[in-house]
Amino acid sequence: MSAYQSINPANNQLLKSWPNHDDTFMQQALSAADELYHSTWCKGDMQPRLQVLHRLADLIDQRVDELAEIASREMGKLIGQSRGEVKICAQIARYYAEHAAHLLQAQPYPSTVGDAWLEYHPIGVVVAVEPWNFPYYQLMRVLAPNLALGNPVLAKHANIVPHCADVFEKLVEEAGAPKGAWTNLFISNQQVADLIADPRVQGVALTGSERAGSAVAEQAGKHLKKSTLELGGNDVFVVLDDADIDEAVRQGAQARLSNCGQVCTAAKRFILHEKIATEFMAKFSAALQSAKPGDPLDESTTLGPLSSKEARDRLVKQVEDAIKQGAHVELGGKVIEGVGCYYQPTILTGLTPQNPAYYQEFFGPVAQVYVVADDRTAVALANDSHYGLGGSVWTRDILRGRNMASQIETGMVFINSQSDTAAELPFGGVKRSGYGRELSDLGLKEFANQKLVVVA
Ligand code: NDP
Repeated sequence: MSAYQSINPANNQLLKSWPNHDDTFMQQALSAADELYHSTWCKGDMQPRLQVLHRLADLIDQRVDELAEIASREMGKLIGQSRGEVKICAQIARYYAEHAAHLLQAQPYPSTVGDAWLEYHPIGVVVAVEPWNFPYYQLMRVLAPNLALGNPVLAKHANIVPHCADVFEKLVEEAGAPKGAWTNLFISNQQVADLIADPRVQGVALTGSERAGSAVAEQAGKHLKKSTLELGGNDVFVVLDDADIDEAVRQGAQARLSNCGQVCTAAKRFILHEKIATEFMAKFSAALQSAKPGDPLDESTTLGPLSSKEARDRLVKQVEDAIKQGAHVELGGKVIEGVGCYYQPTILTGLTPQNPAYYQEFFGPVAQVYVVADDRTAVALANDSHYGLGGSVWTRDILRGRNMASQIETGMVFINSQSDTAAELPFGGVKRSGYGRELSDLGLKEFANQKLVVVA
């Protein structure tokens, strides 16, 4: 039976299966990618590669509705949010099409040794292991910078989103990318390990769980390959006593409901200043409670299903375990009965460091709420986490917000906004949220040979 199945989580119906790729197919894909790497397509003038990215951006813009519908059916994202994801993909492709030439210009290094500069060159075939929660955006974050730079990519997408993987590959081909530039592989974890071990592969980029990240990084380390990891997050959403409460509530609720809470950088731990805690909680509970579950394709739905039955089962167990260890349920805490993988918007309080849930990421519409008396305690609580991905701070005093942002141990902090993403902004974390950056100039250079040349 194929491991790659498209199942609509809104009704659990199997839409289509894709056959697994065997080792022969995988080896052919690797040979084609490696051959391309050694051609002038990858090593020569970048303009033809940038033209592909321009065309890809245009193609995506023309097909927003079609692509969005596929994602919504396959992993349950609300249709409006799927359209948003598709549009960001076009923006990322266009950003690199327009900026890569400038960003990859040789950079002079003033030195007493001689006339010195850095050149940016591709390194070879890169493997991308990607998750289901943003089934196009995650792929574009790897494709666009590597295509601009000249690294061919072999992509192993999550096994519950093969349709998105399939249409993405076809779009890249239609945009004019040659064979080997981006190849979709429906392979097993063992096959991924074999690929990483192959001398023709020079790097691996993964977004997903700590478990997957650790396995892939271990294999990359064993074979001395560069890796980047974008893993989980348990981001804080700190609401200070001088914050715009209504806007904080609106965006906080959005963070827990959007993509049914399955976003690595979405706010998960809400840290409230005691002076505004009661008001925030009342409004936040009301906002979450008013979410309308339903078909992700129905424009009026505001709460979609989780991405799969497994994802929901995992969340159910996690909440049950948290309660057994002393957490209080302020709202929700149960599955929504009926067909489909729905779960009630949930608020948990009373979480102590003795409760394993205190350190866990809930990948679903579950918020953890804490109340603090001052900024120092808020920062200490924010940093008492194994994760370090993003975070947000809400205050009308920007200096106070900046001071707190500087002290929070994460890769990204937003002041007066939930975490966000844009092609030109670096994305990534510290601690168990992984290492390396995607998007922006930093993402473009992760898998570059940053070569020093010196004329003495
Ligand atoms: P996984 O991490 O298992 O899946 C992400 C990708 O990694 C998939 O393509 C998966 O393949 C692949 N993968 C998993 N294990 C290996 C391995 N040993 N070697 C190679 N590839 C591997 O995510 P889950 O769907 O299991 O989600 C579990 C949890 O992960 C979530 O609850 C959440 O906490 C976190 N997560 C975080 C994401 C983020 O954006 N940072 C995204 C998704 C999940 P396959 O699908 O074939 O198993």
